[in-house]
Amino acid sequence: MNPIERGKITLDVWRARGGTRAEIEARQRRRLAEMLSFARRQSRFYKRHYADVPEGSTDLTQYPPVTKPMLMEHFDDVVTDTAITKAEVDAFVADETKICQRFLGRYPVWTTSGTTGEPGISVQDDTSLALLGAHPDRWILDAVLDIDTLRRLVKHNLREAVIAITGGHFLGASAFALLQRESKFLENRIQLFSPTQPLDDIIEALNRYQPALLMGYASVIVELARAQRDGRLHISPAFVSPASEPVSEAQKRDIEHAFDCEVREAYAATEFDPIAIECGHGNLHVNADWVVLEPVDEEYRPVDLGEPSETVLLTNLGNRIQPIIRYDLGDSITMYDEHCSCGSAFPVIDVEGRQGDVLHFETTDGRDRPIFPLALSGVVEDVPGVRRTQLVRTGPSTIRIRLEVTSDCDDLVVWERVRAGLETFLEDQGIAGITVERAAEPPQRDPLSGKFRHVWAEQTCDGPGNESC
Ligand SMILES: [Zn+2]
Repeated sequence: MNPIERGKITLDVWRARGGTRAEIEARQRRRLAEMLSFARRQSRFYKRHYADVPEGSTDLTQYPPVTKPMLMEHFDDVVTDTAITKAEVDAFVADETKICQRFLGRYPVWTTSGTTGEPGISVQDDTSLALLGAHPDRWILDAVLDIDTLRRLVKHNLREAVIAITGGHFLGASAFALLQRESKFLENRIQLFSPTQPLDDIIEALNRYQPALLMGYASVIVELARAQRDGRLHISPAFVSPASEPVSEAQKRDIEHAFDCEVREAYAATEFDPIAIECGHGNLHVNADWVVLEPVDEEYRPVDLGEPSETVLLTNLGNRIQPIIRYDLGDSITMYDEHCSCGSAFPVIDVEGRQGDVLHFETTDGRDRPIFPLALSGVVEDVPGVRRTQLVRTGPSTIRIRLEVTSDCDDLVVWERVRAGLETFLEDQGIAGITVERAAEPPQRDPLSGKFRHVWAEQTCDGPGNESC
């Protein structure tokens, strides 16, 4: 994309900033009509999928939803450039040296390790990339315009610390690696910190790096705030943005007090990033000019405003290379009718996404070591053949794995790799003597809450030194 096109998108995002509800909806309607028409013409999959929908209809509810397994199974027919094939993309993402590169020299590719438990591949275009850059700025600029914040930004030379799973083509780390590779300005201003590293190592590296901006996995940032209060971490970021995992109001206030700076949550998915960003009045605003969110029940029927949904259907109005239309994201959200007191007309939501517990283990030298939920599930989901998984800490030294293997892989072989992978991972963290056992039952929703959780500790667990073990 040339700089003029990118500039146009950025300008459009800024223009919509102060728009009325009607103006935002008009932008959304126009882009939706264009996207539906485009997908029906250019994607063989959507053409078939919408065979029964009247031509030209802009009533989104007439269009059947899609799921991740569906988009993966028909990948070659979904994408709108015939040069892209699943086999070649699979080979591309299997190669870690390609992390900061574009597929075919043109398309960023991110993999998902599992909001709904199944690995997926997301091919992006330049519009997606431009939106990824433009959307955060429209929400956070007001947060960094006071003298103290500007002073911190300058003092730390606008350096960004990003907490994201590295070593794979996941959105967070690989998007930043790509931006870093393609931008002179960002070249030396981004450092990635993986939640799979021991927390003490992250703390030590952050003390050396001294970031101006800290963003990424919420559960890690919560632990970093604790380290800052305990005096182990000494950083003074101008701005902190927890993302990727739900974060409570109390946790956000803790982060704010620990770092004495503005904290704004971001809600993103690999299929659209960022979906929503928190304003100065503490509400998550959906970037509804470029994304459609439909809170629905388990039968994909709309739920009322103000009511939590079973899942949410996402329509990306930007990405044309792999159209995402009424995609089942798996998160429970609540959408509100009320306007936010900040004055923005962009819709406000609450998110209860993939919740996970931080598990605390004792290392062989007697220290407490927190292990982050996405680090653990990432180890399992990285094993080829894993379809869905859940990890349950059932005792101080026992982890039970619920595992579902894809039909084309040998169940026992996959399980052995999962077990070995987890044991190696824990040993690398200095944690020994953990039994990794396979559950008889497959992954399933919690019978009481109905939520599909990924990593948690059972009540019976009596872990060392921490109430949440
Ligand atoms: Zn607001």
